[in-house]
Amino acid sequence: MSIPHGRVELPSQADVVVIGAGAFGFSAAYQLVRLGAGNVVLLDQYEPGTQVSPKAAGLFKMIQASETKTRLALLSRQIVTTFGRESGFPIPHHAVGSLFIARTAAHAGMVEAEVEDSRGWGVDIERVDGREARRLCSYLDPAGIETVHHVRGDLYIEEPRAMLMAYWQAGLALGLQVIGHTPVIGITVERGEVRSVQTSSGSIDTPVVVDAAGVWSRMVGALAGVEVPIVPMRHQLRITSPIDGVSADQPIVRITDASGYARPARGGLMFGGFEAEPVAYPGQLPTGFTTDMISYDPQLNNRFAEALVPSIPALNGHTSQEDRGGLFSMTADGKLLAGPVGAVRGFWVTTGCNGSGFSLSSAVGRCVAEWITGGQPPFDLSLLAPDRFANSGLSAEILQERTVWQYANYYTPGA
Ligand SMILES: Cc1cc2nc3c(=O)[nH]c(=O)nc-3n(C[C@H](O)[C@H](O)[C@H](O)COP(=O)(O)OP(=O)(O)OC[C@H]3O[C@@H](n4cnc5c(N)ncnc54)[C@H](O)[C@@H]3O)c2cc1C
Repeated sequence: MSIPHGRVELPSQADVVVIGAGAFGFSAAYQLVRLGAGNVVLLDQYEPGTQVSPKAAGLFKMIQASETKTRLALLSRQIVTTFGRESGFPIPHHAVGSLFIARTAAHAGMVEAEVEDSRGWGVDIERVDGREARRLCSYLDPAGIETVHHVRGDLYIEEPRAMLMAYWQAGLALGLQVIGHTPVIGITVERGEVRSVQTSSGSIDTPVVVDAAGVWSRMVGALAGVEVPIVPMRHQLRITSPIDGVSADQPIVRITDASGYARPARGGLMFGGFEAEPVAYPGQLPTGFTTDMISYDPQLNNRFAEALVPSIPALNGHTSQEDRGGLFSMTADGKLLAGPVGAVRGFWVTTGCNGSGFSLSSAVGRCVAEWITGGQPPFDLSLLAPDRFANSGLSAEILQERTVWQYANYYTPGA
């Protein structure tokens, strides 16, 4: 898919400047132009859509451990599956559902509790037996499994970049200005209100800024004097070479006690997992840092595979087609940072992905765009207030400790 490129001049004025052309930024910027927010400019320091978002696993999971995030997950699903009809630019996806598995009694108990909550929030989940699980997913060996739940609404996007490209094209068609290779280096705030954004190629006067800068969002927030408490944390995955019997229409598998997942990918399987001691990048990311500079640990992927092999025997002796990864932006309570910042009028944040940002970005972008243009969020998003940790005594050490816990317990939030 090619994007009409051409040089876009930096305007001197905009109604909204969105900083960061990843999943969050594209979504918010597209929704803003769709809702008539006026002159919307989406800036990126690098080529748009090249940092964390295209490296995602592309999984959309409806079980999200809180009512607010569940509503966002369901809304994202709806946006993505109907995007082609709405915009003319379909987002290719596989609506295959997932199997949520526990192999120990303790994990089965936690899964049951989560399933119960999620059902109450509108997620369609059915407990199935091993035979049915095997029928739904021929790459799964159900021996040794305590419980399996079929989450029908889960889906995956084979190549995550395809979602970004659809948003990009849909945005351009509505007049969105997407400008890459233009780092934001300053934000002017006067009398508590956003006035302008300074970039490497000039300044844009604007009353509204959306900080969608992903793992850089803390640094962008600091330009406006806003604390954005996230810690970047490495996450990596592998796509195996093609495996006989695996096809794109098979479901996603999540194995909670292995803290791991798998899904069909390029004729093989994609798998990844969550280690107990993740590599964190606290503080500032170095100038010029890109996600291509992260080093990955192939041994870690081998360990994820070993933990999954009893249930996914095809991973035994597999070879790798691609090892890749990026950074999550983790928060102390595992929830997004999304909405306005009280102390600086006109400054909005959409980050704190906690590992589900690719999927939740569609809903977050829509909600924030509705809030900016209409003055109200479509439903209560106070749980995600970006400034909820202000004056809470969240030191760098506590933030680091809690974010590591959130990462390590991605599949066991009740642990
Ligand atoms: C290996 C892996 C697998 C994942 N799998 C999933 C999954 O299956 N499902 C899911 O929901 N989520 C998943 N995630 C998480 C998901 O990828 C992220 O939550 C999401 O992509 C974050 O999007 P973003 O827009 O915040 O970040 P990015 O895509 O990194 O975009 C941020 C942009 O901001 C730009 N920027 C930063 N600073 C500036 C500046 N000063 N000026 C201008 N531009 C700036 C950057 O250049 C960048 O392009 C995964 C993540 C990883 C690493």
